[in-house]
Amino acid sequence: MVEKDEIIKKLLNGDMKLHEIDKHTESVIEALDIRREFVERFANTSMEHVSKYSLNMEEAMKRNIENPIGTIQIPLGVAGPLKILGEHAEGEFYVPLATSEGALIASINRGCSTIKASGGANVRIVGDKMTRAPVIKAESVTHAVEIKKWIESNFSELKKAAEVTTRHGKLVKIDPTVVVGKYVYPRFVFTTGDSMGMNMVTIATEAALNLLTHKTGAHIIALSGNFCVDKKPSALNLIEGRGKTLVAEVKIPREIVEKKLKTTPEAVVEVNTAKNLIGSAIAGSMGFNAQYANIIGAVFLATGQDEAHIVEGSLGITTAEAVDGDLYFSVTLPDVPVATIGGGTRLETARECLEIMDAHGSGKVGKFSEILAGAVLAGELSLMGALAAGHLARAHKELGRG
Ligand code: NAP
Repeated sequence: MVEKDEIIKKLLNGDMKLHEIDKHTESVIEALDIRREFVERFANTSMEHVSKYSLNMEEAMKRNIENPIGTIQIPLGVAGPLKILGEHAEGEFYVPLATSEGALIASINRGCSTIKASGGANVRIVGDKMTRAPVIKAESVTHAVEIKKWIESNFSELKKAAEVTTRHGKLVKIDPTVVVGKYVYPRFVFTTGDSMGMNMVTIATEAALNLLTHKTGAHIIALSGNFCVDKKPSALNLIEGRGKTLVAEVKIPREIVEKKLKTTPEAVVEVNTAKNLIGSAIAGSMGFNAQYANIIGAVFLATGQDEAHIVEGSLGITTAEAVDGDLYFSVTLPDVPVATIGGGTRLETARECLEIMDAHGSGKVGKFSEILAGAVLAGELSLMGALAAGHLARAHKELGRG
Protein backbone atom coordinates (compact mmCIF):
# COMPACT_ATOMS: atom_id res chain seq x y z
CA MET A 1 0.00 0.00 0.00
CA VAL A 2 1.20 3.52 -0.82
CA GLU A 3 1.64 5.86 2.16
CA LYS A 4 -0.92 8.60 2.73
CA ASP A 5 1.57 11.46 2.33
CA GLU A 6 2.82 10.03 -0.92
CA ILE A 7 -0.76 9.79 -2.28
CA ILE A 8 -1.52 13.36 -1.28
CA LYS A 9 1.72 14.53 -2.89
CA LYS A 10 0.80 12.74 -6.12
CA LEU A 11 -2.69 14.26 -6.03
CA LEU A 12 -1.28 17.73 -5.48
CA ASN A 13 1.16 17.25 -8.36
CA GLY A 14 -1.57 15.93 -10.64
CA ASP A 15 0.11 12.50 -10.84
CA MET A 16 -2.93 10.67 -9.41
CA LYS A 17 -6.63 11.18 -10.00
CA LEU A 18 -9.14 11.49 -7.15
CA HIS A 19 -10.91 8.27 -8.07
CA GLU A 20 -7.65 6.33 -8.19
CA ILE A 21 -6.94 6.68 -4.46
CA ASP A 22 -9.08 3.61 -3.67
CA LYS A 23 -6.68 1.37 -5.62
CA HIS A 24 -3.87 2.24 -3.21
CA THR A 25 -5.71 1.88 0.12
CA GLU A 26 -7.07 -1.01 2.14
CA SER A 27 -10.59 0.39 2.34
CA VAL A 28 -12.79 2.95 0.64
CA ILE A 29 -13.09 4.76 3.98
CA GLU A 30 -9.34 5.21 4.16
CA ALA A 31 -9.47 6.55 0.60
CA LEU A 32 -12.29 8.90 1.59
CA ASP A 33 -10.23 10.33 4.46
CA ILE A 34 -7.15 10.80 2.26
CA ARG A 35 -9.27 12.47 -0.41
CA ARG A 36 -10.65 14.89 2.19
CA GLU A 37 -7.20 15.58 3.58
CA PHE A 38 -5.97 16.33 0.07
CA VAL A 39 -8.82 18.83 -0.44
CA GLU A 40 -8.05 20.40 2.96
CA ARG A 41 -4.39 20.80 2.01
CA PHE A 42 -5.26 22.05 -1.50
CA ALA A 43 -7.73 24.66 -0.18
CA ASN A 44 -5.78 25.38 3.01
CA THR A 45 -8.85 24.75 5.14
CA SER A 46 -10.18 22.13 7.55
CA MET A 47 -13.39 20.12 7.39
CA GLU A 48 -14.08 19.18 10.96
CA HIS A 49 -17.83 18.78 10.43
CA VAL A 50 -17.85 17.27 6.95
CA SER A 51 -15.64 14.50 8.33
CA LYS A 52 -18.18 13.39 10.97
CA TYR A 53 -20.95 11.10 9.81
CA SER A 54 -22.68 7.81 10.48
CA LEU A 55 -23.79 6.87 6.95
CA ASN A 56 -22.42 3.63 5.57
CA MET A 57 -20.22 5.21 2.93
CA GLU A 58 -19.08 1.86 1.59
CA GLU A 59 -22.69 1.16 0.64
CA ALA A 60 -23.28 4.73 -0.57
CA MET A 61 -20.30 4.42 -2.90
CA LYS A 62 -21.91 1.50 -4.71
CA ARG A 63 -24.75 3.64 -6.13
CA ASN A 64 -25.02 7.10 -4.60
CA ILE A 65 -21.69 8.96 -4.63
CA GLU A 66 -18.29 9.16 -6.26
CA ASN A 67 -15.16 10.79 -4.87
CA PRO A 68 -16.70 11.04 -1.38
CA ILE A 69 -15.04 13.22 1.26
CA GLY A 70 -17.70 13.08 3.99
CA THR A 71 -21.26 14.30 4.37
CA ILE A 72 -23.07 17.56 4.92
CA GLN A 73 -25.53 18.21 7.70
CA ILE A 74 -28.74 20.18 7.33
CA PRO A 75 -30.97 20.93 10.32
CA LEU A 76 -33.95 18.58 10.34
CA GLY A 77 -37.32 19.41 11.88
CA VAL A 78 -40.87 18.08 11.76
CA ALA A 79 -44.22 19.70 11.13
CA GLY A 80 -47.47 18.17 12.27
CA PRO A 81 -49.67 16.51 13.08
CA LEU A 82 -50.86 16.76 9.48
CA LYS A 83 -54.26 15.16 9.00
CA ILE A 84 -54.54 13.46 5.62
CA LEU A 85 -57.66 11.94 4.10
CA GLY A 86 -56.15 10.18 1.11
CA GLU A 87 -56.52 6.90 -0.74
CA HIS A 88 -53.12 5.67 0.44
CA ALA A 89 -52.53 7.84 3.52
CA GLU A 90 -55.23 8.13 6.14
CA GLY A 91 -54.55 9.66 9.55
CA GLU A 92 -52.17 12.06 11.22
CA PHE A 93 -48.50 12.35 10.27
CA TYR A 94 -45.37 14.23 11.26
CA VAL A 95 -43.50 15.41 8.17
CA PRO A 96 -39.67 15.58 8.19
CA LEU A 97 -38.21 18.76 6.66
CA ALA A 98 -34.51 19.53 6.18
CA THR A 99 -33.89 23.25 5.86
CA SER A 100 -31.81 26.18 6.97
CA GLU A 101 -34.65 28.63 6.35
CA GLY A 102 -35.82 29.86 9.74
CA ALA A 103 -39.62 30.20 10.14
CA LEU A 104 -40.37 27.71 7.35
CA ILE A 105 -41.32 24.81 9.62
CA ALA A 106 -43.19 27.10 12.02
CA SER A 107 -45.25 28.31 9.08
CA ILE A 108 -45.97 24.79 7.76
CA ASN A 109 -46.88 23.78 11.30
CA ARG A 110 -49.46 26.57 11.46
CA GLY A 111 -50.92 25.26 8.18
CA CYS A 112 -51.05 21.71 9.64
CA SER A 113 -52.90 22.98 12.69
CA THR A 114 -55.41 24.89 10.50
CA ILE A 115 -55.98 21.80 8.35
CA LYS A 116 -56.48 19.58 11.39
CA ALA A 117 -58.97 22.03 12.94
CA SER A 118 -60.87 21.94 9.61
CA GLY A 119 -61.17 18.13 9.58
CA GLY A 120 -58.18 17.24 7.39
CA ALA A 121 -56.84 17.57 3.85
CA ASN A 122 -58.46 15.62 1.07
CA VAL A 123 -55.65 14.35 -1.19
CA ARG A 124 -55.62 12.39 -4.45
CA ILE A 125 -53.01 11.16 -6.91
CA VAL A 126 -54.43 12.00 -10.34
CA GLY A 127 -51.49 10.92 -12.49
CA ASP A 128 -48.46 8.62 -12.24
CA LYS A 129 -45.76 8.41 -14.88
CA MET A 130 -42.04 8.66 -15.56
CA THR A 131 -40.82 9.68 -18.99
CA ARG A 132 -37.78 9.44 -21.21
CA ALA A 133 -37.73 11.05 -24.66
CA PRO A 134 -34.70 10.37 -26.85
CA VAL A 135 -33.83 12.36 -29.94
CA ILE A 136 -33.48 10.35 -33.13
CA LYS A 137 -32.14 11.53 -36.47
CA ALA A 138 -33.69 10.34 -39.72
CA GLU A 139 -32.28 10.63 -43.26
CA SER A 140 -35.07 12.92 -44.41
CA VAL A 141 -38.48 14.19 -43.36
CA THR A 142 -40.03 11.23 -45.21
CA HIS A 143 -37.86 8.85 -43.18
CA ALA A 144 -38.72 10.75 -39.96
CA VAL A 145 -42.42 10.25 -40.64
CA GLU A 146 -41.80 6.54 -41.40
CA ILE A 147 -40.04 6.18 -38.03
CA LYS A 148 -42.92 7.93 -36.26
CA LYS A 149 -45.42 5.62 -37.97
CA TRP A 150 -43.32 2.55 -37.13
CA ILE A 151 -43.29 3.57 -33.46
CA GLU A 152 -47.07 4.07 -33.50
CA SER A 153 -47.74 0.72 -35.20
CA ASN A 154 -45.32 -1.39 -33.15
CA PHE A 155 -46.02 -0.34 -29.59
CA SER A 156 -46.39 -3.87 -28.23
CA GLU A 157 -43.00 -4.94 -29.67
CA LEU A 158 -41.30 -1.87 -28.20
CA LYS A 159 -43.05 -2.47 -24.87
CA LYS A 160 -41.81 -6.07 -24.80
CA ALA A 161 -38.24 -5.00 -25.53
CA ALA A 162 -38.32 -2.27 -22.85
CA GLU A 163 -39.84 -4.41 -20.12
CA VAL A 164 -37.23 -7.18 -20.45
CA THR A 165 -34.92 -4.90 -18.46
CA THR A 166 -37.12 -4.35 -15.39
CA ARG A 167 -39.62 -6.08 -13.11
CA HIS A 168 -41.48 -2.96 -11.97
CA GLY A 169 -41.20 -0.65 -14.97
CA LYS A 170 -44.17 -0.79 -17.38
CA LEU A 171 -44.26 1.06 -20.70
CA VAL A 172 -47.73 2.63 -20.80
CA LYS A 173 -47.51 4.59 -24.07
CA ILE A 174 -45.17 6.42 -26.42
CA ASP A 175 -46.89 9.75 -26.80
CA PRO A 176 -46.48 12.24 -28.30
CA THR A 177 -43.93 11.52 -31.00
CA VAL A 178 -42.88 14.90 -32.36
CA VAL A 179 -41.07 15.43 -35.68
CA VAL A 180 -38.91 18.53 -36.17
CA GLY A 181 -37.15 18.55 -39.55
CA LYS A 182 -35.21 15.25 -39.63
CA TYR A 183 -35.34 14.86 -35.84
CA VAL A 184 -37.87 12.59 -34.09
CA TYR A 185 -38.72 12.89 -30.36
CA PRO A 186 -40.80 9.96 -29.04
CA ARG A 187 -41.84 10.43 -25.38
CA PHE A 188 -41.68 7.03 -23.63
CA VAL A 189 -44.13 7.01 -20.71
CA PHE A 190 -43.70 4.41 -17.95
CA THR A 191 -45.04 3.56 -14.53
CA THR A 192 -42.18 2.67 -12.16
CA GLY A 193 -43.73 1.20 -9.00
CA ASP A 194 -42.31 2.68 -5.81
CA SER A 195 -39.14 4.01 -7.43
CA MET A 196 -38.77 7.44 -8.98
CA GLY A 197 -37.67 5.48 -12.02
CA MET A 198 -35.21 7.63 -13.95
CA ASN A 199 -32.52 4.96 -14.12
CA MET A 200 -35.13 2.29 -14.73
CA VAL A 201 -36.78 4.06 -17.68
CA THR A 202 -33.46 5.13 -19.19
CA ILE A 203 -32.29 1.51 -19.31
CA ALA A 204 -35.68 0.31 -20.58
CA THR A 205 -35.88 3.03 -23.27
CA GLU A 206 -32.39 2.13 -24.48
CA ALA A 207 -33.50 -1.49 -24.94
CA ALA A 208 -36.55 -0.40 -26.96
CA LEU A 209 -34.36 1.91 -29.08
CA ASN A 210 -32.09 -1.00 -30.00
CA LEU A 211 -35.12 -2.61 -31.63
CA LEU A 212 -36.17 0.67 -33.26
CA THR A 213 -32.75 1.35 -34.81
CA HIS A 214 -32.55 -2.24 -36.06
CA LYS A 215 -35.99 -2.06 -37.70
CA THR A 216 -35.98 1.51 -39.09
CA GLY A 217 -32.37 2.58 -39.54
CA ALA A 218 -33.02 5.43 -37.08
CA HIS A 219 -29.88 7.03 -35.68
CA ILE A 220 -30.00 7.81 -31.95
CA ILE A 221 -28.52 11.26 -31.32
CA ALA A 222 -29.09 11.18 -27.54
CA LEU A 223 -30.98 8.94 -25.13
CA SER A 224 -32.50 12.09 -23.66
CA GLY A 225 -33.65 14.71 -26.13
CA ASN A 226 -34.89 17.16 -23.45
CA PHE A 227 -38.50 16.36 -24.36
CA CYS A 228 -38.72 14.13 -21.24
CA VAL A 229 -38.57 16.83 -19.52
CA ASP A 230 -36.14 15.91 -16.72
CA LYS A 231 -34.95 18.42 -14.12
CA LYS A 232 -36.06 21.54 -15.98
CA PRO A 233 -39.21 23.64 -15.70
CA SER A 234 -41.53 22.82 -18.59
CA ALA A 235 -45.01 23.60 -19.87
CA LEU A 236 -45.22 20.00 -21.17
CA ASN A 237 -44.86 18.62 -17.64
CA LEU A 238 -47.26 21.23 -16.29
CA ILE A 239 -49.94 20.05 -18.74
CA GLU A 240 -49.19 16.32 -19.12
CA GLY A 241 -47.77 15.65 -15.65
CA ARG A 242 -44.58 13.79 -14.72
CA GLY A 243 -43.78 11.77 -11.60
CA LYS A 244 -46.85 11.97 -9.41
CA THR A 245 -49.58 14.48 -10.22
CA LEU A 246 -51.09 15.46 -6.89
CA VAL A 247 -54.08 17.47 -5.73
CA ALA A 248 -54.84 18.44 -2.12
CA GLU A 249 -57.76 20.48 -0.84
CA VAL A 250 -59.25 21.71 2.41
CA LYS A 251 -62.39 23.58 3.35
CA ILE A 252 -61.72 25.88 6.30
CA PRO A 253 -64.61 27.29 8.33
CA ARG A 254 -64.56 31.10 8.53
CA GLU A 255 -63.96 31.16 12.29
CA ILE A 256 -60.89 28.95 11.90
CA VAL A 257 -59.49 31.22 9.17
CA GLU A 258 -59.98 34.11 11.55
CA LYS A 259 -58.62 32.34 14.61
CA LYS A 260 -55.64 30.46 13.12
CA LEU A 261 -54.67 32.60 10.13
CA LYS A 262 -55.80 35.95 11.52
CA THR A 263 -57.47 36.90 8.27
CA THR A 264 -60.65 36.31 6.27
CA PRO A 265 -61.51 33.93 3.40
CA GLU A 266 -62.08 36.94 1.10
CA ALA A 267 -58.63 38.36 1.81
CA VAL A 268 -56.95 35.00 1.05
CA VAL A 269 -58.93 34.73 -2.20
CA GLU A 270 -57.88 38.21 -3.27
CA VAL A 271 -54.20 37.61 -2.52
CA ASN A 272 -54.37 34.32 -4.42
CA THR A 273 -55.92 35.95 -7.50
CA ALA A 274 -53.66 38.99 -7.49
CA LYS A 275 -50.43 37.16 -6.62
CA ASN A 276 -50.54 33.52 -7.62
CA LEU A 277 -52.70 33.90 -10.71
CA ILE A 278 -52.26 37.40 -12.16
CA GLY A 279 -48.76 38.06 -10.81
CA SER A 280 -47.50 34.72 -12.07
CA ALA A 281 -49.22 35.27 -15.44
CA ILE A 282 -47.55 38.63 -16.04
CA ALA A 283 -44.20 37.08 -15.07
CA GLY A 284 -44.70 34.19 -17.52
CA SER A 285 -44.12 31.87 -14.56
CA MET A 286 -45.11 28.19 -14.50
CA GLY A 287 -45.44 28.26 -10.73
CA PHE A 288 -48.86 29.74 -10.04
CA ASN A 289 -48.21 29.33 -6.34
CA ALA A 290 -46.51 31.02 -3.42
CA GLN A 291 -43.92 28.49 -2.23
CA TYR A 292 -44.33 24.85 -3.31
CA ALA A 293 -40.54 24.58 -3.79
CA ASN A 294 -39.93 25.42 -0.13
CA ILE A 295 -41.84 22.39 1.13
CA ILE A 296 -40.87 20.10 -1.75
CA GLY A 297 -37.21 21.03 -1.26
CA ALA A 298 -37.15 20.46 2.49
CA VAL A 299 -38.96 17.10 2.27
CA PHE A 300 -36.86 15.99 -0.71
CA LEU A 301 -33.61 16.68 1.15
CA ALA A 302 -34.85 14.89 4.26
CA THR A 303 -36.11 11.80 2.43
CA GLY A 304 -33.38 11.20 -0.16
CA GLN A 305 -35.29 12.30 -3.25
CA ASP A 306 -33.35 13.60 -6.25
CA GLU A 307 -32.87 17.24 -5.28
CA ALA A 308 -32.69 18.40 -8.90
CA HIS A 309 -36.37 17.45 -9.19
CA ILE A 310 -37.31 20.27 -6.82
CA VAL A 311 -37.48 22.42 -9.94
CA GLU A 312 -40.24 20.16 -11.28
CA GLY A 313 -42.03 20.09 -7.93
CA SER A 314 -42.14 23.89 -7.98
CA LEU A 315 -44.71 23.84 -10.81
CA GLY A 316 -48.40 24.04 -10.05
CA ILE A 317 -51.48 26.10 -9.33
CA THR A 318 -53.08 27.19 -6.08
CA THR A 319 -56.79 27.98 -6.03
CA ALA A 320 -58.83 29.74 -3.37
CA GLU A 321 -62.56 30.38 -3.21
CA ALA A 322 -64.90 31.88 -0.67
CA VAL A 323 -67.76 29.39 -0.33
CA ASP A 324 -70.71 30.27 1.91
CA GLY A 325 -68.40 32.47 3.98
CA ASP A 326 -65.78 29.72 4.41
CA LEU A 327 -62.47 29.25 2.59
CA TYR A 328 -61.93 26.52 -0.01
CA PHE A 329 -58.20 26.14 -0.72
CA SER A 330 -56.35 23.72 -3.03
CA VAL A 331 -52.91 22.96 -4.41
CA THR A 332 -52.27 21.08 -7.65
CA LEU A 333 -48.77 19.71 -8.27
CA PRO A 334 -48.51 18.19 -11.76
CA ASP A 335 -44.86 17.16 -11.62
CA VAL A 336 -43.53 15.50 -8.45
CA PRO A 337 -40.99 12.70 -9.12
CA VAL A 338 -40.72 10.73 -5.87
CA ALA A 339 -39.61 7.35 -4.52
CA THR A 340 -39.79 5.23 -1.41
CA ILE A 341 -37.32 2.72 -2.86
CA GLY A 342 -34.06 3.09 -4.81
CA GLY A 343 -31.93 6.18 -5.45
CA GLY A 344 -31.19 8.28 -2.37
CA THR A 345 -33.90 6.59 -0.28
CA ARG A 346 -31.29 3.89 0.39
CA LEU A 347 -29.30 6.25 2.62
CA GLU A 348 -29.83 5.66 6.35
CA THR A 349 -31.03 9.19 7.19
CA ALA A 350 -33.50 9.15 4.30
CA ARG A 351 -34.84 5.78 5.44
CA GLU A 352 -35.31 7.08 8.98
CA CYS A 353 -37.14 10.16 7.75
CA LEU A 354 -39.43 8.11 5.50
CA GLU A 355 -40.06 5.74 8.41
CA ILE A 356 -41.42 8.67 10.52
CA MET A 357 -44.37 8.52 8.10
CA ASP A 358 -44.29 4.72 7.72
CA ALA A 359 -43.44 5.43 4.10
CA HIS A 360 -40.22 3.58 3.30
CA GLY A 361 -39.95 0.71 0.86
CA SER A 362 -42.27 -1.30 -1.37
CA GLY A 363 -45.91 -0.29 -1.58
CA LYS A 364 -45.42 3.08 0.11
CA VAL A 365 -44.97 5.64 -2.67
CA GLY A 366 -48.69 6.48 -2.85
CA LYS A 367 -48.78 7.15 0.87
CA PHE A 368 -45.66 9.29 0.79
CA SER A 369 -46.95 11.28 -2.21
CA GLU A 370 -50.24 12.07 -0.51
CA ILE A 371 -48.54 13.19 2.72
CA LEU A 372 -46.18 15.36 0.66
CA ALA A 373 -49.11 17.02 -1.14
CA GLY A 374 -50.77 17.66 2.24
CA ALA A 375 -47.57 19.27 3.54
CA VAL A 376 -47.43 21.53 0.48
CA LEU A 377 -51.06 22.48 1.13
CA ALA A 378 -50.18 23.35 4.74
CA GLY A 379 -47.19 25.50 3.75
CA GLU A 380 -49.07 27.27 0.99
CA LEU A 381 -52.09 27.96 3.16
CA SER A 382 -50.02 29.40 5.97
CA LEU A 383 -48.02 31.74 3.75
CA MET A 384 -51.13 32.92 1.89
CA GLY A 385 -52.81 33.50 5.24
CA ALA A 386 -49.85 35.55 6.46
CA LEU A 387 -49.83 37.64 3.28
CA ALA A 388 -53.58 38.17 3.51
CA ALA A 389 -53.29 39.18 7.16
CA GLY A 390 -50.52 41.65 6.28
CA HIS A 391 -52.59 42.99 3.42
CA LEU A 392 -55.51 43.51 5.78
CA ALA A 393 -53.33 45.05 8.46
CA ARG A 394 -52.03 47.59 5.97
CA ALA A 395 -55.53 48.29 4.69
CA HIS A 396 -56.80 48.82 8.24
CA LYS A 397 -53.96 51.19 8.97
CA GLU A 398 -54.60 53.24 5.85
CA LEU A 399 -58.37 53.31 6.41
CA GLY A 400 -57.82 54.28 10.03
CA ARG A 401 -55.74 57.28 8.90
CA GLY A 402 -58.48 58.45 6.53
P1 NAP B 1 -32.83 2.68 -9.02
O1 NAP B 1 -32.39 2.54 -7.64
O2 NAP B 1 -31.84 2.74 -10.12
O3 NAP B 1 -33.89 1.54 -9.43
C1 NAP B 1 -34.89 1.08 -8.57
C2 NAP B 1 -34.59 -0.38 -8.27
O4 NAP B 1 -35.48 -0.88 -7.30
C3 NAP B 1 -34.72 -1.26 -9.49
O5 NAP B 1 -33.63 -2.12 -9.52
C4 NAP B 1 -36.01 -2.04 -9.24
O6 NAP B 1 -35.98 -3.32 -9.82
C5 NAP B 1 -35.98 -2.15 -7.74
N1 NAP B 1 -37.28 -2.32 -7.07
C6 NAP B 1 -37.51 -3.23 -6.05
N2 NAP B 1 -38.75 -3.11 -5.58
C7 NAP B 1 -39.34 -2.12 -6.30
C8 NAP B 1 -40.63 -1.53 -6.26
N3 NAP B 1 -41.58 -1.92 -5.40
N4 NAP B 1 -40.91 -0.54 -7.13
C9 NAP B 1 -39.98 -0.11 -8.01
N5 NAP B 1 -38.74 -0.65 -8.10
C10 NAP B 1 -38.41 -1.63 -7.24
O7 NAP B 1 -33.73 3.96 -9.01
P2 NAP B 1 -34.52 4.70 -10.14
O8 NAP B 1 -35.75 5.14 -9.43
O9 NAP B 1 -34.66 3.95 -11.43
O10 NAP B 1 -33.61 5.92 -10.42
C11 NAP B 1 -33.38 6.86 -9.37
C12 NAP B 1 -31.97 7.33 -9.46
O11 NAP B 1 -31.76 7.81 -10.78
C13 NAP B 1 -31.68 8.46 -8.54
O12 NAP B 1 -30.50 8.20 -7.82
C14 NAP B 1 -31.50 9.62 -9.48
O13 NAP B 1 -30.61 10.56 -8.97
C15 NAP B 1 -30.98 8.97 -10.72
N6 NAP B 1 -31.21 9.67 -11.99
C16 NAP B 1 -30.82 9.04 -13.11
C17 NAP B 1 -31.02 9.64 -14.33
C18 NAP B 1 -30.62 8.93 -15.58
O14 NAP B 1 -30.77 9.51 -16.64
N7 NAP B 1 -30.15 7.72 -15.52
C19 NAP B 1 -31.62 10.88 -14.42
C20 NAP B 1 -32.05 11.48 -13.26
C21 NAP B 1 -31.83 10.86 -12.05
P3 NAP B 1 -36.62 -3.55 -11.31
O15 NAP B 1 -36.07 -2.51 -12.24
O16 NAP B 1 -36.22 -4.92 -11.68
O17 NAP B 1 -38.10 -3.42 -11.18
